[in-house]
Amino acid sequence: MSIRYIDEIENLSGKKVFMRVDFNVPLDDNQNITEDTRIRAVLPTINYALDNNAKIILASHLGRPKGERKEKYSMAPAAKRLSRLLGKDVKLASDCIGDEVRATIDAMQPGDIVMLENVRFYAGEEKNDRDFAKALANGCEIYVNDAFAVSHRAHASVEAITDCFPVVTAGFLMKNEMNYFDKAMQNPIRPLVAILGGAKVSGKIEVLDNLCDKVDKIIIGGGMAFTFLKAMGYNVGKSLVEDNLIETAMKAYQKAREKGVKFYLPVDCVVADQFNPAAETKVTTIQEIPEGWMALDIGPATVALFTEALQNAKTIVWNGPMGVFEMDAFSRGTFAMVSAVANSYALTIVGGGDTDVAVHRAGEYAKISYISTGGGAFLELLEGKKLPGIKVLEDKGHK
Ligand code: AMP
Repeated sequence: MSIRYIDEIENLSGKKVFMRVDFNVPLDDNQNITEDTRIRAVLPTINYALDNNAKIILASHLGRPKGERKEKYSMAPAAKRLSRLLGKDVKLASDCIGDEVRATIDAMQPGDIVMLENVRFYAGEEKNDRDFAKALANGCEIYVNDAFAVSHRAHASVEAITDCFPVVTAGFLMKNEMNYFDKAMQNPIRPLVAILGGAKVSGKIEVLDNLCDKVDKIIIGGGMAFTFLKAMGYNVGKSLVEDNLIETAMKAYQKAREKGVKFYLPVDCVVADQFNPAAETKVTTIQEIPEGWMALDIGPATVALFTEALQNAKTIVWNGPMGVFEMDAFSRGTFAMVSAVANSYALTIVGGGDTDVAVHRAGEYAKISYISTGGGAFLELLEGKKLPGIKVLEDKGHK
């Protein structure tokens, strides 16, 4: 079974194409979109459908309206931005289900685009409700999922809805995500190096476990490194440590050793006397973290070590920052690693919301082979899970 992509459909002309996209963009207090990468990411699929004279019905969620209609979560800003990006009218439907929406869809001409209102205005969306899914499908003929970032959710517009269509496909964003993930984790050119960072070990244990079976090296930075370092007997001061996971961390480390995976941890760090941009800071070795201080970034020796470990890498997968990069004083380690990854001679894949932000802030995104649009979805793929939204595409793509 394999996924069928939109360009494998013979005739889209005049067809009502229901496209699940992820336009869950960040908004400021005045409902202005502050970052529109998610909308831009779907343009190739929308343009392809337009070129083929389809009628395009877009569905997305935005924010957490929790099953109620709340105007601040309206899809209006996303529809407006899409309209500007395409240079063409995008009509916002009054709702996502119902007779009025059906009438709007029925009145569409080939090449028209209608954006449905937020699918999470109804509780049925997150409950994967079959009746809600049927109501959403509303007479459309072809289903396209191009919302990789929600494909780890068994929600109505992602999973249940696929039962309502004879033809179930994926878009080009999904194709890219799948292709790069395959190159990185299923058929990698080795050595394959995984870099893991971010705040906590919890939430990344399954990832670590799965990576031990697949990669040649694991590099650990960020807050999560300190649970490992504490497990190894270092005094890490007030650094972030999950005491309940010390044993689990040790087991992951041992598994890596048994499997012959090279395991790298920080050797120095930037410590602060408080969690504050104005904190007193200094660089210390891991052995000399002062009592009462906390490590908030990797230090220069660690950057050198990690960079050296990346030298012979042919494939690099990275999730999670090396420090509290949101604060200038603790951003250097993450930015140095962005540069090391960007300048490596490897296929490089970065995933997870924060890592993506760090790469953009460092201005190196053009040098990364692929930046995944999925945070949670990317992590679940790294855990080795089958994502519900992708499973239905595989099951129902080629019947
Ligand atoms: P995650 O969502 O688990 O990928 O964590 C991302 C967050 O980890 C970022 O917001 C960073 O500020 C935070 N982080 C990274 N390193 C540290 C650290 N050493 N101590 C505390 N927080 C950290």
